[in-house]
Amino acid sequence: MAPTPVSAHDLSQKHKRVVNFSAGPSKLPDTVLQRAQEEMLNFQETGSSVMELSHRGKTFKSVISEAEKLTRQLLNVPDNFRILFMQGGGCGQFAAVPLNLAGSPGATVDYIVTGRWSESAAKEAEKYCKVRKVHAPKPHASDSSDSEDSEEEWWSELSDNAAYVYMCDNETVDGVEFKCPPRTPPGVPLVADMSSNMMSRPIDFSKYGLVFAGAQKNLGPAGVTVVIVREDLMDGRALPFCPSVLSYHVTSRNDSLYNTPPTFSIYVTGLVMQWVRDSGGVARMQELSREKSSLLYSLIENSQGFYYCPVDKSCRSRMNIVFRLSGGEALEKRFTEEAAKQGLTNLEGHRSIGGLRASLYNAVTIADTRTLASFMRDFAKRVAQIDLV
Ligand code: PMP
Repeated sequence: MAPTPVSAHDLSQKHKRVVNFSAGPSKLPDTVLQRAQEEMLNFQETGSSVMELSHRGKTFKSVISEAEKLTRQLLNVPDNFRILFMQGGGCGQFAAVPLNLAGSPGATVDYIVTGRWSESAAKEAEKYCKVRKVHAPKPHASDSSDSEDSEEEWWSELSDNAAYVYMCDNETVDGVEFKCPPRTPPGVPLVADMSSNMMSRPIDFSKYGLVFAGAQKNLGPAGVTVVIVREDLMDGRALPFCPSVLSYHVTSRNDSLYNTPPTFSIYVTGLVMQWVRDSGGVARMQELSREKSSLLYSLIENSQGFYYCPVDKSCRSRMNIVFRLSGGEALEKRFTEEAAKQGLTNLEGHRSIGGLRASLYNAVTIADTRTLASFMRDFAKRVAQIDLV
């Protein structure tokens, strides 16, 4: 008799799983972890774990091509884009992007700086290129909420002669997210770091030349980086000293098997893609991300200043909710300690800026978010006798 399917909720209870709000590596769907566990000792009747299979064998090749196929389907990736599975994480791409796309050493490239990760990417690119930093407006809270009217002004600062324009679609540390991609000058490709929001909304590939994401937030476990690159950008733009292992052309020509790839991470990423598909696809992930983030932002806004969000409303992230307690750092410490005791973990802000941060990636459910909201209400009531709706 087939075993009765166990719900994700029951699974979570049974294994005493915490509600993990980490910015990454972050929560994976319980059912994905269970499936990986079931298949651990004998993957598809091979008598081996997927980790023990040759990356050049038939079975693993079908695993990687399935992961690629699902990524293509879910994100509606056009035929003239290649999907690559690489190593080195987001930081590896900070080097790979200039090494592959600059055209010639010292070429001019534009970096839109909106926070910590785009700043780091610009610094890495300075080793190979002449970097022009373009500062997008309004990363900090102001009274001019919801207005997007100044966008055109700074888009015009992007130079016609740049080899590419670089942006970070969602700044994980600062809690800042683009609502839509900037318009680049004709013929200048746009490169986007989507490490912390890929698969949370559709991507209009007509606007981008390349997008990439380290898997460990929305896509799967750490170790694999998904790069989606327009084919024509892989011709004749790489710097002569670009290492083969970081080369898009070499990776593409070898179907992401130039050297031994992180096989287990690719396998689990494929399982997460199946889970996204079975959960309603990227459009559903987008709806849920709006619902989850609005729940927390409106609670913060309506807290009579007990909680506050330092990010302007016009660019608040749906993925990483950065917030603070007006009571100060000691109270924030008490908040995270009490939350952890209730199984709500990793709510500390990034170590470079402190404060609080709740990351609401795809695997974090509405129920998880409601549990956090109810803890936040309870905390405000106990500390300041405020009744939050
Ligand atoms: N870009 C973004 C948006 C990130 O959030 C991170 C890491 N959290 C990185 C790049 C760096 O990624 P990695 O640690 O995989 O090198």
